[in-house]
Formats: sequence, C-alpha cells, structure tokens
Amino acid sequence: MTKRIVVLGGGTGGTLTANRLHRHYKVHRVDDQRVEIVVVDQDNHHVYQPALLFVPFGLTSRQEFVRPRTEQLHPDIEFVEDTINHVDTFRDTVVLDGGRELAYDVLVIATGATLAVDETEGLGGAGWNENVFTFYDLAGATALESALDSFEGGKLVVNVVDMPIKCPVAPLEFCFLADWYFTERGIRDKVEITYATPLDGAFTKPIASAALASLLEEKGIKLLTEFNTGTVVGTDTDGDGKRLIGYDGRELEFDLAVVVPLHNGAAYVGRSEGLGDELNFVPTDPHTLQSKVKENVFVIGDATDVLTSKAGSVTHFEGEVLVSNIERFLDHEPLDTSYDGHANCFIETGFGKALLIDFNYDTEPLPGHFPTAVGMPLLKESRFNHLGKLLFQWVYWHALLPGRDIPGVGADMPRHGKQRSNNEEAMV
Ligand SMILES: Cc1cc2nc3c(=O)[nH]c(=O)nc-3n(C[C@H](O)[C@H](O)[C@H](O)COP(=O)(O)OP(=O)(O)OC[C@H]3O[C@@H](n4cnc5c(N)ncnc54)[C@H](O)[C@@H]3O)c2cc1C
Repeated sequence: MTKRIVVLGGGTGGTLTANRLHRHYKVHRVDDQRVEIVVVDQDNHHVYQPALLFVPFGLTSRQEFVRPRTEQLHPDIEFVEDTINHVDTFRDTVVLDGGRELAYDVLVIATGATLAVDETEGLGGAGWNENVFTFYDLAGATALESALDSFEGGKLVVNVVDMPIKCPVAPLEFCFLADWYFTERGIRDKVEITYATPLDGAFTKPIASAALASLLEEKGIKLLTEFNTGTVVGTDTDGDGKRLIGYDGRELEFDLAVVVPLHNGAAYVGRSEGLGDELNFVPTDPHTLQSKVKENVFVIGDATDVLTSKAGSVTHFEGEVLVSNIERFLDHEPLDTSYDGHANCFIETGFGKALLIDFNYDTEPLPGHFPTAVGMPLLKESRFNHLGKLLFQWVYWHALLPGRDIPGVGADMPRHGKQRSNNEEAMV
C-alpha cells in the first residue's frame, strides 16, 4: 500500500531527507512498499546559507549560492510551492495557504528558523539597512556589502541579540573577516571592531571559547560579554548617537552595527495546535528525532529544540538517523536512538585561514585532528581548513543535498584524533 511522506521545507534538511528517502525506497522497497514523497516550500530559491557570510565582503555572487529547489530534488519527488498555513496533527493533514490539504502517513518538519527582527525594540526601524544591518538573510547581506564598501572608519559593532541562532560561530567569522577586509583596504587602524554577545565568553563551550577569545584579542577585536540588547537606536535623532542599549543599562555606540536578530521557529508552528514550544520550535527526542507531539511526526535541522547547534552539518548528520527511523516507523520496528548531537563547523578567521570544531551533546570542541589522528587540525588556524570551507559548497550541492554519504564523515562524532585534557589523542 502506498504511504505518503510529506516534508515541510525544501531547505537543507527537507531536501536531503526527501532525496535520501527516495534513494532508500527505490533501492530497497520497490516491490513490497511504495512511498510517495511530497516537499512543500514557500518559494523555489534554495540558498546555500553559509555563503551569506561572504556576500558583505564581495567574496561571492548570487549565481554561485542560489539555485532552484526543484533542481535539487529527484524528479520523482513532488514539489509544492506554497506557504504552510498550519498542521492538523489530529487529522494527519497539512493545510496550505492556497487552500490545498495534504494528508500524510509520516510528516517531516524541516522548516528551519526565522529571524524575529520585530522582537527587539528599534531593530528593523529607523536606520535599518542604513546604519544597522544583518547578514543572516540575502537582502540584508546584499545591503551590507554596499555599506561596508563605503565605510571609511569608525565603530563597527557586531552583536548577537540572544541564543539560539543559526551557526553560532558565523558572527565571530564576520568579525575576523572584517579585520581582514579593512586591513586589505588599508584602513584597519581607523576601524574599532567590537563583538557584543549575550554569552559569558566568545562561544558556548569553555575550550573553544578560550581559543576564540584569544584570537579576537590577537586581531585587536574587543569582546563584550553578557550584553543583552534591549533597544537599538539606529539613527542619531536624539543627539546621543547611534547605539545599542542593554537591559542592564549599558550603552554601546556604533557607526555601523551588524546584528543577528532573535530566532524563532516558523510562524505556522504557532498556529498548529500542540505542535511547538513558546518560540515555535518543535519538541523533539534528541536521539531518535521523532517529535514529542505525535509518533508519525519527525523533525530535522533548525526546527527542532534539541540542544546542539543550529547548523547545516547537524542537519546532515541528523538526516541519516531520521531516514532510518522513518523506515523503521513504517515497518513497526523500534527506532534507532543513535543520534549523538554531532556538529562540525569551519570557522573562517581571515587571511586565507580557518579553524575547525567538531563536537556533540557530551563532548565539547577539543583540539586534535578530524576525522582521525591524521586529518584536518581542530581548533587551530590553518589554510587547509579554509580550503575545506570553500570546498564544502561543492560537497553541499553534489553530495549532501542529493543524500549521498560523505566518505569518512558519518553521523556519529569521531573520537579518534581528539585531545583530551591529558593531551593524549583519544583512542576510544
Ligand atoms: C549566515 C549563515 C551562515 C551559516 N554558516 C553555516 C556554516 O558555516 N556551517 C553550517 O553547518 N551551517 C551554517 N549555517 C546554518 C545552516 O544554513 C542551517 O542550519 C541549515 O540551513 C538548516 O537547515 P533547515 O533545513 O533546518 O532549514 P533551512 O535550510 O533554513 O530550510 C527551511 C525551509 O523552510 C521553508 N519554510 C519555512 N516556513 C515555511 C512556510 N510557512 N511555508 C513554506 N515553507 C516554509 C523556508 O523557505 C526554507 O526553505 C549558516 C546560516 C547562516 C544564516
């Protein structure tokens, strides 16, 4: 009997899940079980989001990182271009803005995170895209490119309003690239760069936080911790300057501000009874990726509430376990509980170098090598890592999205090559 799997979202997680499911059922199940796969997204432009970091510095162009979603999906997968209105988990049905209703046997939620600009007072108001920018969407990153180009000096503030955000290292990468960019333009001594974060350090985990804080210091970038932005004053209309005002009363003046807004889950989640939490993320089992809402609903990527980074790498690793669990669910078998929170990120540090971090729910980013004792250096700047970051875009389009396995890089975090506190490379 044909089963219908509806995938909400045709970004990183939705695309790789649909293609993996298609591959799996085509290879293994053609005779005894047919599966129909439908992907829904509100538009047909797939953006490779890590490239947004490079847009403001003129290091990439739109045609390199935006492609039609339909070209990333196997032709046997149905693509529906419409906005999701809500999900009725009692009737196992998705309702679209256009009026169509999609009944499902299994639902995959892959609708990511959205930028909640309006939730911070003043953000998105006066001075928006003139003095205050974000590079977290294509329009913002593009506007910022012109602003950086005409910036001749002054105070540049890079600010994260609150966690969780997509790719928590991206704002740090922005600071490092700004240091490189203004050096290249010969005006670095005229630019004061400050990184203002709500965290108590440069990053969430202690060893990486210390390494990244010393890199900021080495590059002359100020670090302001535990700064919780309450208000953004984007123009100098009151004569007190453009500034971020923290909830504790501290003020941070700027000439140019680059802000990463609050993130929420997709708005339709809030309209779907019982589906999401107060931020519209979907409560999800951290090891099986089955939702806590209903057995036939699975969640992947930024849309989950699991306690690992909101990152494409996480989405990719989750995909392997998720697809196996959809198959097990349809076969009435126990679910695979093996997803370990594996995350892996290149951190661009400017001047043709990058760091690499690799971690999971239990193991923080450690020094050493990835994926084995002779691989790429971890938590250490290298040209090799920078080339890895650039090469990854090709891997994304040609292996990750089509749902192919990447040799040597599996869902489980590799333990070989990581240095523990006694400076021994872990062998287990
Ligand atoms: C600036 C930046 C840099 C980044 N750098 C990195 C990096 O270096 N490494 C890394 O691993 N990750 C990075 N990321 C994060 C990575 O891009 C995301 O974690 C990843 O894309 C998450 O995939 P997803 O499928 O959960 O969400 P997305 O890929 O965002 O897909 C969600 C989809 O849902 C659709 N959708 C949402 N609501 C609706 C609706 N109501 N109706 C219809 N469709 C809807 C959207 O249109 C979208 O296509 C970066 C992100 C940003 C913003």
